[in-house]
Amino acid sequence: MSHSDIDEGRRKFLKKSIAGMVVLPAVLNTSLKAEKPKTTSSKFIYRTLGKTGMKLPVVSMGVMNADNPNLVKAALDAGIVHLDTAHGYQRGRNEEMIGQVIKDRGRDSFVLATKVPADFQDDKTGLFTEKTKPESFIEKFEISLKRLGLEYVDILYLHDVVKKEAAMFEPLLTALINLKKAGKTRFIGVSTHRNEPEVIQAVADSKIYDVVLTAYNFRQPHLIEMHKAMEYAAKAGVGIIAMKTQAGVFWDRERQHQINMKAALKWVLANENVHTTIPGFTTFDQMNLDLSVMEDLKLTPEEESELTLGDDMGMNGLYCSQCGQCEAQCHKSLDIPSIMRSYMYAYGYNNFTAAKEIMQSLSSDGKFCNDCHACPVKCSFGFDVKSRVMDIARIQNVPSEFLT
Ligand code: SF4
Ligand code: SF4
Repeated sequence: MSHSDIDEGRRKFLKKSIAGMVVLPAVLNTSLKAEKPKTTSSKFIYRTLGKTGMKLPVVSMGVMNADNPNLVKAALDAGIVHLDTAHGYQRGRNEEMIGQVIKDRGRDSFVLATKVPADFQDDKTGLFTEKTKPESFIEKFEISLKRLGLEYVDILYLHDVVKKEAAMFEPLLTALINLKKAGKTRFIGVSTHRNEPEVIQAVADSKIYDVVLTAYNFRQPHLIEMHKAMEYAAKAGVGIIAMKTQAGVFWDRERQHQINMKAALKWVLANENVHTTIPGFTTFDQMNLDLSVMEDLKLTPEEESELTLGDDMGMNGLYCSQCGQCEAQCHKSLDIPSIMRSYMYAYGYNNFTAAKEIMQSLSSDGKFCNDCHACPVKCSFGFDVKSRVMDIARIQNVPSEFLT
C-alpha cells in the first residue's frame, strides 16, 4: 500500500469519525495541563483487597487511556494509591510514563498492578495452546519491570482470561507462582472481561491466585451469575477489582449522550464484594468526579434513574457484554466480541490506538463484512453488528502515528 493510499484511508476514516475524536497527544496534553487537581480528602472510603490485606481507596486509577503524567501525579497526590496498567498499553509507553511518575516516590506510597498476556491464545476458544510458553510471558514481564523502573510490582495479572482452563493452565500458573516466590510480584491474579463468572470461580477454587480484575457494570446481562461468583470469591479471600465500570462511557457513537459516570461508579461500589475500582479517567474533571464518589457512595434515586436513560431513549450503548451469542451466527466466524471491544475503545474511550491493536490482533482476512451480503447476526444488545464491524474495520488503514 502506498503512502497516498494510507493518507486517503486516514482522510476517509477521520471524515466519518466524530469531529475531534482522533486527537494528537500533544493537543490532549495541552488542554489538560491548565486544570488543577483536587486536594487529598481524609473522608475517602477504603476496603481491604481480600487476603492481600492491602487497604485501598475504593477508587483507583486505570491508566490505560491516560497519556499525561501530570494526571497520574495529580491522582497520587489526591489520595489514589493503586495504579493499573498493562504490558501492551500504548505499546509500552503507558508503563514508561508511570515509571517516570513513580521514580521519585516512596515504594510504599503506591500500589502498582500490570497485566501481561501469554502468546498463542486461541481467539475462538480462549484456551492456551501447546505453543504457549511461560518463557515469553516471563520475558514480557521483565520488560514491563524495566519500563516501570521497579524491582517488583504489587499485582501481576495473567491478562485476558476467558476460561477456567486458561486460568489453570499449568505452565503459566507455575511461572506466576515462581515470580511471586522470587519477589518479582507481591500478588498474582487474572484479568477477565468475557465469561467472567466462570473465571472468577476458577480463581477462587485455585486457592493460588490472590486477586481477580473483572469487568463489572450496570449494563451486564449476566448480573445474577456475576454476583454469585463475586460473593463466592470474596468469601474465599480473593481480592476483587472492578473494571469497565463506566460501561463504555457513552450511550451513543456520536458521544452526545454520556452515561452518568458518577452513578455508574456508585452502582458498582454498592456491591461490597468489590474492593476497589479502576475507572479510566483522562481529565482532571473526570478524576475529581471519581474522587467525589469516594466521599459518598449513596446512589440517589435521580442517579439511579439516569442509569436507564439510554434504554429510555432507545440507545443501546457502546459496551458489549462479550456474551458471544453472535459468534456462531456469523458466516465468517468473526471474533465479534473483540471487534465490539475495539469499537468501544475507539468511540467510548477515545483510544484509537488500543482499538487498532485489537483489530490487528485478530486472525482475519482483513475484509471482515465487506464480502458478505446479508447479515444474519442478532445481537442480544440489539447492536447493528455489521455496520459496527465495517465502521471499526476502517481503522486498520489509519497510520498508527495519527491515532491516540
Ligand atoms: S456481515 Fe459480517 S458479522 Fe454479519 S455474517 Fe457477514 S461477516 Fe459476519
Ligand atoms: S455483539 Fe452483542 S451478541 Fe455479540 S458478544 Fe456483544 S453483546 Fe453479545
